[in-house]
Amino acid sequence: MKIAVIGTGYVGLVTGACLSDLGNDVVCVDIDPAKINKLASGVATIYEPGLDEILKKNIRKARISFTTDIVKAIRASEVIFIAVGTPPDSKGKADLSAVRLVAKSIGENLNGYKVVINKSTVPVGSGDMVRSIIAENLREKHPFDVVSNPEFLREGSAIEDFMHPERIVIGADDRESVQKIRQIYEPLEAPIVVTDVKSAEIIKYASNAFLAVKISFINEIANFCELVDASVEAVSRGMGLDNRIGKQFLKAGIGYGGSCFPKDTLALYEKGREAGYEFRIVKAAIDVNEDKRQRFLEKILKALQKNGGSRVAVWGLAFKPNTDDMREAPSIAVIKGLLARGVSVAAYDPVSMEEAKKVFGDTISYGQAEEIIKGADALVILTDWNEFKQVDFELIKTSLNKPVVVDGRNIYNPQEMKDLGFKYYSVGRRDIQ
Ligand code: NAD
Repeated sequence: MKIAVIGTGYVGLVTGACLSDLGNDVVCVDIDPAKINKLASGVATIYEPGLDEILKKNIRKARISFTTDIVKAIRASEVIFIAVGTPPDSKGKADLSAVRLVAKSIGENLNGYKVVINKSTVPVGSGDMVRSIIAENLREKHPFDVVSNPEFLREGSAIEDFMHPERIVIGADDRESVQKIRQIYEPLEAPIVVTDVKSAEIIKYASNAFLAVKISFINEIANFCELVDASVEAVSRGMGLDNRIGKQFLKAGIGYGGSCFPKDTLALYEKGREAGYEFRIVKAAIDVNEDKRQRFLEKILKALQKNGGSRVAVWGLAFKPNTDDMREAPSIAVIKGLLARGVSVAAYDPVSMEEAKKVFGDTISYGQAEEIIKGADALVILTDWNEFKQVDFELIKTSLNKPVVVDGRNIYNPQEMKDLGFKYYSVGRRDIQ
């Protein structure tokens, strides 16, 4: 099938690459010429396990191409995926300006029946908006359908998630477009939920908000555990083995980040208010998440004892392992908080150092994991990359100025850290002082 994917970021690029791998003829469009040039030469613009190989293979087979020419791409395709960003605006609502712009181009360049698939996360009612914009801008009269097909992939395992989804949601108001999308996804053999456009749009927000609530819930339990000297790890395990609850998203830490949960919870809350409903649970999840970073910052300051003039080594900057994405990473609030208190920071992340430089510039220094711990007053762990789990503790202890580790991801065992002679602070567990 001839497919255009408009917006070649995390979602668009993975969607385009995977659809080409399934044998489709895909053209990926972006407004950023630097991104398109890099991709056209076979170099992935994001870090995502497996993406490089799949890109190179399909470029070689001429099944995927990259362009900034949206007109040509629209005219050449029978199906158009919209995968542009929908970041929060100044009020927390989803900024739909890129979606509107793309819809206008589609209207202006429609040259036959096409199915327009909204893959971007957009608030309920956006499908109607896209349909109206296309209709208002038609230069030639052709039929078209607008469908919602929200994406559930997770950064860090995006290819795997796209190729083996737990479900595919199709929100459509007619049979022909449902058939078209079924055909695209048929090789994936995944359960398909077919519903109306509005319900599909809500499924995406409701899913993300639910997961955010689950994370904030266990983070509140962690706060409580710290006060009463219990272990959140044990509580999570005991809860998670109950199938009705499930183990996932029950890991206490320093709160959720990334490009989805923070913006989608806020956008759902704002959309609710617009409709005359206040999402109280979602609001509480947002508040707890913000408070969590603050609490962790206080924990580091307490562990340091003396703030001004101290220096900490930070391991992990990305919002989670296996991605270079720094959007809304908890590391940002924590590091900025440290800097504001006069603590200097040296940081290391296996893949997000370049992205981190765009956020912190030269307000912090950067180096390899072993380098930055030399002479630091504490080691602070902000992302649970696997490479931080098996480490040379003797080297850490002798490198640090004081044997202090503040772990926001609970990757070490408190008793073992005590036996090794560390002062060890973690989340929802007894601090070893
Ligand atoms: P992104 O910022 O990585 O990519 C968006 C891309 O769209 C950018 O490359 C940008 O240059 C391009 N773009 C912007 N305006 C354009 C225009 N007018 N024409 C062509 N290209 C344009 O964003 P993302 O993370 O891929 O997210 C895209 C959408 O998918 C968002 O709505 C997001 O909420 C949703 N989503 C993201 C994830 C995720 O894990 N990142 C998962 C599921 C859903």
